[in-house]
Amino acid sequence: MLRENIFLKIISKTIPVTIIHEDSECLAFNDINPQAPVHILIIPKKEIRTHADLTPEDSSLMGHLHMVATKIAKEMGLEKGYRLVLNCNESGGQTVPHIHMHLLGGRNLGWPPG
Ligand code: AMP
Repeated sequence: MLRENIFLKIISKTIPVTIIHEDSECLAFNDINPQAPVHILIIPKKEIRTHADLTPEDSSLMGHLHMVATKIAKEMGLEKGYRLVLNCNESGGQTVPHIHMHLLGGRNLGWPPG
């Protein structure tokens, strides 16, 4: 079940988080329940509910999120590898209704995911 959009409160700084990166388009912060030594969420400031709600006008924004992920992965020393995860809707494992990219690394990550 998708809960309330807690990430809007994080964007407005109503809820404190450890910010890793911020610019005019996005925010990256540590996940509160890390699944790996590095577990960072990268979110757009634009309100987009799910991956399925993306439109062509979001192409450059989503490209930007990937570039930020690449930059953070380098800064975090994840040369051996990392994983980007984008859960979509309930069957995809999405719990917060604001599109977000997980950056996971710092350990060997198994496949397939659960
Ligand atoms: P997902 O299940 O893909 O929707 O991921 C939502 C993620 O948000 C989970 O990994 C949560 O641990 C994380 N999360 C929820 N609330 C917070 C918070 N206040 N600060 C940081 N991460 C959060």
